[in-house]
Amino acid sequence: MRVCVLGSGSEGNATLVEVGTTRVLVDAGFSARDLERRFAKIGIAPGSLTALVVTHDHADHTRGMGVFARRHRIPIYTTPATLRACARLLRGDECVVHYRPGAPFEIGEIRIAPFLTCHDAVDPVAVTVFDRQAGTKLGIATDLGRPTAAVRHALSHCDLLVLEANHDEMLLRDGPYPWSVKQRIASSHGHLSNRAAAELVRELLHPRLVGVILAHLSEACNDPPLARAAIATALADAGYRGYLAVARQDEPLGVIDVEELRRRAGPEQLSLL
Ligand SMILES: [Zn+2]
Ligand SMILES: [Zn+2]
Repeated sequence: MRVCVLGSGSEGNATLVEVGTTRVLVDAGFSARDLERRFAKIGIAPGSLTALVVTHDHADHTRGMGVFARRHRIPIYTTPATLRACARLLRGDECVVHYRPGAPFEIGEIRIAPFLTCHDAVDPVAVTVFDRQAGTKLGIATDLGRPTAAVRHALSHCDLLVLEANHDEMLLRDGPYPWSVKQRIASSHGHLSNRAAAELVRELLHPRLVGVILAHLSEACNDPPLARAAIATALADAGYRGYLAVARQDEPLGVIDVEELRRRAGPEQLSLL
């Protein structure tokens, strides 16, 4: 399994997952032109995508979905409620496939298990993505108001985690947003703080977890080194020596090969716990 976070943050989110010849884009939160620029950077033609999976209706996950899907003839997988909420982005001639939260579905060599999250969107989900043959499991979990028991269960036993570390609690408190926005971000239907992400990742740590990518960082209320330090400390305390990176808003992170991370992690990581 190969994974590339094409960009992540409140200005846009998109993550590419590749297994064999199947390529799935999870969210299209940038304009079609910006998505094309990002694909060019990693040397992949957008026309080679098998599907686009949309997690919820917020603009930072859907901005380019209509134009991008039409231009490159990519089927859109979404829930009926999210589709209705995104109607203004669509013309009606797109190929749309419905899924339901809690009901896994297959796209080529990939299986996707969408699960409900607590987030202030119409029908928000996060996803786990599986290599159907090898069993490799990726969790893509941003826009998590709070890590419910169902979320923690869904994200257990991932090989690679793309996890939200949205804000530093102090920077949010002292930051430029109006009080109502601060309340929304910090609420149980908003976004995970660095501290909450550190607690969650520590709980999710298991011997086969070889990579963690921090995502959806707030530009105003977080700082990549700060987020990284918070989560690195929690992970190191628990004995983790795997890969840790912070996704960027403006540029794609490099393509990550999960099997390669596993080779690099070696037996030490596997004997953890
Ligand atoms: Zn959202
Ligand atoms: Zn978002």
